[in-house]
Amino acid sequence: MKSDDCPEQLSIVRQENAQLGALLRVDFITGLPIRRVLAERLRPLVGESDHRAFALGVVRLDERFHRRFTEGSLVEILTYTVGQRLLSLAPGDVYQSWRTDEFVILVEDPDLLTDLHAFGICLREAVSAPLQHGAMDIRLGCNIGFAVYPEHGSTVSELLGNAELALGIMEIRDGTTIVYDDSMGRRRRRVFEIEHAIAEEIQNGLEGFSLAFQPVVDTERRIRGAEALTRWNSAILGPVSPGEFIPIAEHYGQIQILGLWAVFTASTIAGRWGRSDRLHPIVSVNVSAIQLRDPEFADRFVELIEAGGGDPSRFRLELTESAIIDDPDLAQHTLKALRERGVHLLVDDFGTGFSSFSYLHRLPIATIKIAKEFVDTILDSDHSRAIVQSIVQVAHSIGGTALVEGVESEEQYRVLREEGCDFFQGYLFGRPKAVDDLELLVLET
Ligand code: C2E
Ligand code: CA
Repeated sequence: MKSDDCPEQLSIVRQENAQLGALLRVDFITGLPIRRVLAERLRPLVGESDHRAFALGVVRLDERFHRRFTEGSLVEILTYTVGQRLLSLAPGDVYQSWRTDEFVILVEDPDLLTDLHAFGICLREAVSAPLQHGAMDIRLGCNIGFAVYPEHGSTVSELLGNAELALGIMEIRDGTTIVYDDSMGRRRRRVFEIEHAIAEEIQNGLEGFSLAFQPVVDTERRIRGAEALTRWNSAILGPVSPGEFIPIAEHYGQIQILGLWAVFTASTIAGRWGRSDRLHPIVSVNVSAIQLRDPEFADRFVELIEAGGGDPSRFRLELTESAIIDDPDLAQHTLKALRERGVHLLVDDFGTGFSSFSYLHRLPIATIKIAKEFVDTILDSDHSRAIVQSIVQVAHSIGGTALVEGVESEEQYRVLREEGCDFFQGYLFGRPKAVDDLELLVLET
């Protein structure tokens, strides 16, 4: 249709398009302006010769959001609420990204720019403030990545790409906000290499993986247990530490297989010990939050121990507080089922996370493991000592025991015994070692 064909009709179409255009500039759920509006706003800034600094932050709700909330109207309420919470900290500077669970924040305030990390923490806290919906108590989590103009990119899309790269690295490490730096491209490549090499290992029966055992002793220094720690000597990459490969295996869903392999392998070893009179330490196995999400986990775990020849009542499962809080109802169900089958339960790294005491009474927890960071400072800090004291009290009040990790000196061991700790683990008593070396150590003590 040519413009002079039918002026009346054309004006209606134009009006409709203008309305649509106006509408399309905001997200119809959150009411926030969309990314295109941000690009328009930034166009004059990006071209400036005096390079006035600004940052773009990408805020993405973590994967629990999609896993736990599938009902359409609730998803809309939650995304709207998150948008409003971000706006309260950055009025007029929040944009809706392409994804419903993602927001972009423009930071121009020089004070905020000098400490983006602190600003990111405020944003995270705002997003994760508790929210009541009917009978549901909802707590959301998010990851954030920032990129700064002009250091990290000369165009809006380059900046957003780098902010997303920073965010992606945070998602794998499950940490706090992160500002892009030039090493991230390299780190991202390393993540891909590791993910690829684990996939190859899975194809080849996990041959490059093995278990090391670290002794756990009592107040008399007798070995009473051993923690199974996974080691990996990759044919492609050489040795890779668990601190590096476990979060990647968790992120890409490979931890399920790796975790089951660790339980079965530990069980074949413990099965051997079970038949010996002198050797029968309790074997601890680490379990990730993701493994606990499998409703069949308790059955699988016990079946694998039995298939390997071990006795479930000689096994201890180590899990972090976040694994419990992730989905408390499912965790409660799974942990009760495991306890009924005789498996001991341990809360790992206690004191570093949420340290919510409320769940401890509801769950059949037998042992609380006190995090190494309190041991590191216990000789110089009354504060650390007081924390250790109160964790020991909590452990005993639930009828359990307190195990402390990272003990490196005789002096730390003495003080920790004085504070009432029951079990001890650390380089002072032995580093993680091959099973034959652990057996020798047990026989010597
Ligand atoms: P974690 O469960 O906190 O394990 C304790 C870590 O502290 C181990 O590191 C151990 O080698 C180290 N450690 C023990 N005593 C001392 C000490 O006295 N001083 C110092 N500086 N360090 C000590 P590792 O073996 O590198 O494991 C790191 C993490 O990887 C573990 O932390 C655990 O969360 C995870 N992990 C290891 N194996 C598995 C597994 O099979 N499954 C899962 N889900 N996670 C695993
Ligand atoms: Ca552990």
